[in-house]
Amino acid sequence: MSTATANKTTLPTLDKLGVSAPKASDVNAVDIASKWLQTFEKNIANNNIDGILSGLTEDAWWRDLLSMTWDFRTFQGKDKIRHFLKDRLANSKLKDFKVSFAEYESLYEDLAWIRAHYTFENGVGGGTGVLRLVPTKGHGGNIEWQAHNICTNLQSLRGYPPAVGPLRDFDPNHGKWLDMRKRQMEYADHDPEVLVVGGGQSGLEISARLKLLGVPSLVIEKQARIGDQWRHRYAALCLHDVVWYDHMPYIPFPENWPVYTPAQKLADWLESYAKNMEVDYWTSATVTHARKLKDGKWEVTVRRGDKDRIFNVKHLVFAIGVGGGTPNMPKIPGMDKFKGQILHSTQHDKALDHAGKKVVVVGACTSAHDIAADYANNGIDVTLYQRSATYIMTTKEGMPRLMKGTYWEGGPPTDVADMIDNSLPILYKKDDPQAHHEGHRRGGPHCYSELLDGLQKRGFKLSWGVDDSGFLILALLRLGGYYLDVGASRMIIDGRIKLKSGASIKEFTETGIISDDGTKMDADVFLFATGYGDPRNPMRDILGPELGKKLTPIWGINDEGEIRTAWKEAGIENCWVMMGNFAWCRFYSQHLALQIKAKREGIWDGKRYSLESKA
Ligand SMILES: Cc1cc2nc3c(=O)[nH]c(=O)nc-3n(C[C@H](O)[C@H](O)[C@H](O)COP(=O)(O)OP(=O)(O)OC[C@H]3O[C@@H](n4cnc5c(N)ncnc54)[C@H](O)[C@@H]3O)c2cc1C
Repeated sequence: MSTATANKTTLPTLDKLGVSAPKASDVNAVDIASKWLQTFEKNIANNNIDGILSGLTEDAWWRDLLSMTWDFRTFQGKDKIRHFLKDRLANSKLKDFKVSFAEYESLYEDLAWIRAHYTFENGVGGGTGVLRLVPTKGHGGNIEWQAHNICTNLQSLRGYPPAVGPLRDFDPNHGKWLDMRKRQMEYADHDPEVLVVGGGQSGLEISARLKLLGVPSLVIEKQARIGDQWRHRYAALCLHDVVWYDHMPYIPFPENWPVYTPAQKLADWLESYAKNMEVDYWTSATVTHARKLKDGKWEVTVRRGDKDRIFNVKHLVFAIGVGGGTPNMPKIPGMDKFKGQILHSTQHDKALDHAGKKVVVVGACTSAHDIAADYANNGIDVTLYQRSATYIMTTKEGMPRLMKGTYWEGGPPTDVADMIDNSLPILYKKDDPQAHHEGHRRGGPHCYSELLDGLQKRGFKLSWGVDDSGFLILALLRLGGYYLDVGASRMIIDGRIKLKSGASIKEFTETGIISDDGTKMDADVFLFATGYGDPRNPMRDILGPELGKKLTPIWGINDEGEIRTAWKEAGIENCWVMMGNFAWCRFYSQHLALQIKAKREGIWDGKRYSLESKA
């Protein structure tokens, strides 16, 4: 047990609950969770909403992933949950709750709960869920266990299981497989039902999942080979997330895979994934235009070589990357005057391309640090130009604290880890000390304070994230604002990477820049590691201005803490968005596939219980 305290008010601390932690030997977690679920199920069967609410704490959280809302929703507090249940409980037809396993966790000295994983059925299929039961004061001084956190997740559609395990193809295929695959990939004489724009992990995973649900899809990738977006990112790139967090659906990384995957290796993995999952894809092909036909179908134009192919498809999935892959390049007065080179990180290959030059890397998040470290390692004069504060976590110290117990060697199977992780609402995680490592709060004790002090002495501006919440919310809101340190911070402290901090570039001159604090800096190369633009821009290029206007904002979080527009329709019927890091893509590609399949089979009419419309 950690000695840290769970000091935020939204957490169900023992102090707040007015009880002390029961002894582990006194807690039969499976028994307690089973009894709680039995009462819960009885109340559901009787549509007894008050009964259900009496099993929850006042400030309880309920996260629903499709199973009751056909949307991603988070309700906090009894009032909101009551309203939601009044609207949705009867229709959802929840039943057959069974505990899969449960354990008593004492996470901090003032926080303890039973985490119970369970399965259930709803009107359309099977679900999985996680309950977090906390001890409260019951009658006669006894402990009464109440849910502080409940998640209902749609896992499968009844009658439509994916073709895996016992449902795999049992027929031998003597000598016909290669021709069959060529025919399937080519789509010469018919159209797929789903066209996926983009063949990164997002596109490949949604296509693989649809295939196993019997929904034909074709991935269109504009680059020459699957994986090229990783091959062409800067050569020094390695995933900053650990291998256990990054597995793809159906084919986990092999057991000898390095903890941090190099980009080039990842590129080859994506290519082999596409082949092994028998994803149908075209490379060197670009989706140039899509319009809606009167019958609701999409007419999609794909440029391949010097020919256009027109597809008529029911669903169009945009899997064009976080930020749409388009660079966010600031326009600064005088750029046209500058005699040296200005480029964005997406145009950069390797440090040695600038051997002997003086380089300024503009930006102070992940790419900026990686690229600056590559320059320093190759003896190139490099300065990091930091405008605003950055959240720093060392992967060495921070990753084990964040990930151990869920995504780590010896941790639970990935599907269980995914439910532990995704059952917690994002806004809840924001205040949960588990979500970032112990003591990583303003003024708190810190496991790598020496590094942070060193950075501060150099003038590096440090941030603790939004409301001290670490990097999760920064990733969701800004797709940046943090660096998970793999060595560049030390190089800044040692002066191997020079630093200019706390200013912005006012203008370019012929030889360099003038900052808004009046200082001048000359250099040969200015490399902007300033992130990516709005993914709706490239989508609008394809959809045209009329449809483009209807696109809802993508990424960032809404008032409930749910990610906007990801893994669902983007404001236009049957126009879907698939995106995220490896972990989110793995988990939520399932949800996107289920929605498309449910529509196809007439199981779902496409109506959602959404935050905006409250349909
Ligand atoms: C520098 C960097 C480091 C990252 N590190 C991590 C990490 O450590 N862990 C992690 O989980 N995530 C990381 N990510 C985030 C995320 O995993 C990646 O951005 C990932 O590439 C997203 O996958 P995707 O399939 O959604 O998009 P992409 O990989 O960007 O793929 C989109 C594809 O769509 C294609 N495309 C676009 N438009 C068209 C069109 N009109 N027609 C045909 N094809 C088109 C593009 O060519 C591209 O190949 C990182 C991202 C970056 C940029």
